Amino acid sequence: MKKFEYKKGLAFMRDSFVPFSEAHVSIASSPFLYGLAIYTVLSINLDKSKKKLSVFRLEDHWKRLVASAKIMDFTSFLKEWDYARFEKMVRDLVKKNGLREDSLVRIAVFIDAEVAGTKIHGLPNSVCAYIYPMGEILPRSGIHVCVSSYRRTPDNCIPSRAKVNGGYVNVSLMKNEALQNGYDDALALDENGFVTEGTVANIFLVKNGVLITPGINSDILEGITRNSVICIARDMGIEVLERPIARSELYAADEAFVCGTSARLTPILSIDRRVIGNGKIGNLTATLGQKYEEIQRGIAKEHEKWRTGL
Ligand code: PMP
Repeated sequence: MKKFEYKKGLAFMRDSFVPFSEAHVSIASSPFLYGLAIYTVLSINLDKSKKKLSVFRLEDHWKRLVASAKIMDFTSFLKEWDYARFEKMVRDLVKKNGLREDSLVRIAVFIDAEVAGTKIHGLPNSVCAYIYPMGEILPRSGIHVCVSSYRRTPDNCIPSRAKVNGGYVNVSLMKNEALQNGYDDALALDENGFVTEGTVANIFLVKNGVLITPGINSDILEGITRNSVICIARDMGIEVLERPIARSELYAADEAFVCGTSARLTPILSIDRRVIGNGKIGNLTATLGQKYEEIQRGIAKEHEKWRTGL
């Protein structure tokens, strides 16, 4: 089957579908000048028959986008869009592109104004979206990470809970530092030295059979995969603790992984060159990763409601 070539496909821009190459914003626009845009990335997965596609947790992505819009005071988006319109746009985008493979969809809402300065309130907001290949944002076989010398942006600076484009400067600096120093990715601490998350994914540790992850008030993005992992683990009778994690707990963990829509469940093999567990993919990490994949594809029957058939 011919692979979907997203640069030759159609994107959604403002109120219509246009060739990807024509979906532009101005060099004098607020998203370009100040990063004034919010976004989400959702996954589209082939089901067990390998013929039908479904979107994973579409409504939850919508809800998080609305939360980001509220935090950022994007008023026109909140008035002009609702879930029904959002779902229809995603369905139409997939249909018009004749998509037949696992993919990601990036949907952004931006301040659609030129030379507006750093203002936000009351300016028009526009929506854009495009499909791109699933790829491997991090090697699924496992990663070697460091603790970043950069701190995660605190809530009173740029809230990490809001998925706002400008906030990604923070994690880009971490990623750059990690790559330059020979690591695959970085983990960020908060201002008080507690663990927050990876650059594009939330973190979990396993200690004595218990799953531990920082709580939602610890300067993290409230990852939809994070929430899925918590639900799946609890369904399996695994204890899950959402609590502050000290840096030293990272090194002493039995297992560690990061998770996100693009990263899925990626095992961490070492942190700051300390081997995690026995340096191989942990048992619980592997079990949860497999269950997550099976639920996304409807191979496992739990959480049917998380999938929206296309
Ligand atoms: N944290 C950050 C900083 C991210 O960019 C992402 C990816 N969206 C995540 C966590 C994981 O979120 P989700 O599971 O919703 O993709």
